[in-house]
Amino acid sequence: MSNEGRGILLIVSAPSGAGKTTLVEKLVALMPGLKMSRSYTSRRAREGETDGVDYNFVARRQFETMVAGGEFLEWADVFGNLYGTSAGDTEHLLTAGHDVVLVIDVQGARQVRRRGLDAVTVFVMPPSSAILEQRLRGRSKDTEEAIQRRLTVAREEVASFSEYDFIVINDELVGAVDRLRGIVLAERARLARMSGVAGDIVRTFE
Ligand code: 5GP
Repeated sequence: MSNEGRGILLIVSAPSGAGKTTLVEKLVALMPGLKMSRSYTSRRAREGETDGVDYNFVARRQFETMVAGGEFLEWADVFGNLYGTSAGDTEHLLTAGHDVVLVIDVQGARQVRRRGLDAVTVFVMPPSSAILEQRLRGRSKDTEEAIQRRLTVAREEVASFSEYDFIVINDELVGAVDRLRGIVLAERARLARMSGVAGDIVRTFE
């Protein structure tokens, strides 16, 4: 089947603290045509976050109503808060020809795969557990307990790397963004996307 005209669905997962948000923000800034999906969440906005920009912040009950209504492409409970990707918003962007990146956890990525959607999946890994711990301690005012909880979840998550199509090790930001960009460029060059254009070129030889 030809995918021409339809955008690419890119999924990026990583343990908390691996730097995936910064990485994807840089990627989106570099690549016209690639948009970051805005998730819904039941958690409260943190200082500096804006509703409708960082997330769509909704009450837990509203989130549950959306789950019951089948409005999510995927959703998950992450550290006690609910997070989900709107199926409608995502489909709308893909149909309009935008490439869409979902920054979602391992559980969410599994749901998208189970739905049989055509997605390109990337797992971002920190170079080591010690470096992840260092980053978690450096970046936040999290309690020791919260840091330990994130590390325990990270241990489980990194073990899921083999479910993904691509692995990017976030050892250094510029290089990691470059590798991620390379994945998107390669996907855009696939035969299924390019056969129409290639056919037009062939016809200029006739
Ligand atoms: P935070 O609360 O720090 O913004 O995000 C916590 C975690 O929730 C991150 O690991 C992030 O990948 C995950 N997350 C954010 N949005 C979604 C979503 O729409 N679906 C899923 N499954 N996970 C999400």
